[in-house]
Amino acid sequence: MKRREELNFFEKLYIFEILKGVAQTSGDLFKHLFLFLSQVVGFNKNKKAWATYEYPDEARPYADRFRGRHRLTLNDDGSMRCTACYLCSTACPASCIHIDATEHEDPEIEKFPNRYEIDTLLCIYCGYCVEACPVDAIRMDTGIHPEIYPPDPRSFIEDKETLMKRSRVLEDEGPDALFKAHMKKLKAIETKPFEGEY
Ligand code: SF4
Ligand code: SF4
Repeated sequence: MKRREELNFFEKLYIFEILKGVAQTSGDLFKHLFLFLSQVVGFNKNKKAWATYEYPDEARPYADRFRGRHRLTLNDDGSMRCTACYLCSTACPASCIHIDATEHEDPEIEKFPNRYEIDTLLCIYCGYCVEACPVDAIRMDTGIHPEIYPPDPRSFIEDKETLMKRSRVLEDEGPDALFKAHMKKLKAIETKPFEGEY
């Protein structure tokens, strides 16, 4: 966490900071105005003349610290890394992680989650589960927003398979594939009436 820095003498006067802000805003205004006008007469066609994004058709790059949807990370052999230690569900302030541990057939592995579910309807996307995990088995680095599901509360519960699949897609196809699939679902919701399944 970045701590608040002390203001220096010139910053405490405020006037210089106000002038810096005005210069920045005016600079951006004239830069984009120039680009726009030059495109009208046929120049700079490959440059973007506006600062806004055509969401949802155009994705805005998220900051690295963005907390997206959860995923359960995998070992090299495709098995889940989670050891069913319950630390994430204990740390969760919304009590929305549900785990059932069971013995593993491999005697070297003590246990694993037979059931691992997150009720995303209750989740507040605080990231405490990720912080609590001692083996880096859960992450929120998918770069996509929480899901929009049809109006059935059970659809908001993300099970083990869903959370593991996200890791596979992320590894095989990258975050863009996850984003595209998410947007496809969003557009389907926007363009057709709900008929029981998206
Ligand atoms: S992000 Fe927070 S609320 Fe959501 S499952 Fe993790 S700990 Fe719980
Ligand atoms: S995800 Fe991490 S913290 Fe949660 S049960 Fe699995 S190993 Fe423990």
